[in-house]
Order: sequence, then structure tokens, then C-alpha cells
Amino acid sequence: MIFIFLALVVIIWGIQRYRVKARRNLLLQQPLSSEHIKILENNVPLYTRLPNELRETLQGCINHFLDEKVFVGCDGVEITDEIRLVIAANACMLLVNREMKRFPGFETILVYPDTYVARQVSYDGLVEVHEHSARAGESWHRGPIVLSLTDVVQGSSNEHDGHNVVLHEFAHKLDEENGVMDGLPVLRESAHYKEWAEVLTREYDEFLKRVKRGKNKVIDEYGAVSAPEFFAVATESFFEKSKQMKKRLPELYQQLQIFYGLDPAEW
Ligand SMILES: [Zn+2]
Repeated sequence: MIFIFLALVVIIWGIQRYRVKARRNLLLQQPLSSEHIKILENNVPLYTRLPNELRETLQGCINHFLDEKVFVGCDGVEITDEIRLVIAANACMLLVNREMKRFPGFETILVYPDTYVARQVSYDGLVEVHEHSARAGESWHRGPIVLSLTDVVQGSSNEHDGHNVVLHEFAHKLDEENGVMDGLPVLRESAHYKEWAEVLTREYDEFLKRVKRGKNKVIDEYGAVSAPEFFAVATESFFEKSKQMKKRLPELYQQLQIFYGLDPAEW
């Protein structure tokens, strides 16, 4: 009896898995409506820079993203198609030429109207310290992404200033795919980890020295906080200051070029 029950469980699980996969493949191949493409053309300059051959893939990624993720408006934000598409398009930019066309491990995206105040608890010896800090976005480990709508719109509309909170927070999601957010995401090939570690460590050290000397350019100084933040701000610059990064920091650019499978400096 128990064997029949187990067999049934396995069969139902298999059917369910097949259905999810089939639905995912369908969504990934489906283009966006002309109305939605218009929204992207008007609000996401990175989309208009994207080479034609990648646009269809991006549209499929966006379809799947919108199907999988849940958007929650906070403090009076009403979630519109425009908000969903702008966030999805910027986030999916990171996936467009990667094998895994999704961000696993979380479902919810919380959208606040503006920079919001987050409560942070840290420990100074035995003393518990409560701090309040203003944030444009955050990514919870295995949990939701939180975004300020003002920063989403500004980040998306200016594609050359190196600030894009959506690219930043979703880069953290890729970073934590292997369970830890440490600036070392899952790479395409295992042979590539040694080179990544060498280049990223060297580039991070050089970056910290430049920040200290007040000579930093290209990458936001916020990256000095930690290696994961360095990876996230480097991702923002890779897409938004790609030409400068390729010229001034060619080795870092090359690692990100391999990781994302893209060469935005040539777009
Ligand atoms: Zn961050």
C-alpha cells in the first residue's frame, strides 16, 4: 500500500514539474505586447540600447519574471503595469544572456514611494544598537527585494550615471544563488573561479586604495562597504558606464562580460 502511495506522490510531483517547466518555456518564448514594448521604449533606455537579437530574449525573461514575482505597493504605492515592467526589464537585463533565465529563491518585491527608513540592529560588544538608515533598496537573504520607486525611476531613466537600484539589488540576488552573499556568484564554468577570485580581489584592493586617496572614478564608493557591495556597484557601472569601465578597468570588465555574457560597451 505504502509503495502505491509513494509511486502516486512521485507521479504527481513529476506531472507538476513538467507543467511548471512547460509554462516557463512558453513564457520565455512569448514576445511582449506592443503596448508593453512602448512602455519599455519610453522608460528603459537600456532596452533601446540592447542589440536587436537580444530584445526578444529579454521580452521572454520579462514575461516569465512578471508571472513568477509578486509586486506589493507599500505606503500608498499603487502597482501599475509601468512599474512592473520597468523593474522587470532592468532586473532581466542581468539574465538576458545567462543560462538560468530566472531569479530563484524569492517571490516578493516591495515597492515604497521614496527612499524609506529601515531599522537596523547591530551589536557593539554586549550592547544592542538600533539604527535607522535611509535606503533606496535592499535585498533580504532568501527573502524579498525592497525598492524605492523614485530611485527605480531615476535609475532606469538615466542609463549613464552608474546608479541603478534595480541592477544593484538583483545583482545581490545572483550573488546569493549559491547560498551566501559574498561577491562570488555561481560562474559558468568551474575552471573560471580561480581567475574570478584573483581579478576581483585585486580590483577590490585597488578600488579601496583609490577611494582612500579620493581618486575613485567609474564605480560608486559605496562598494567600499564590502565585497558583495563591490560586486553590486560594479554591475551598475558595467551596464551604465560600460565604455569607461572597459577602458579604465579592463580586467574587471572582462570578468563581468564573461559572467553576464554581454558586452554593453559595444551597444
Ligand atoms: Zn547592496
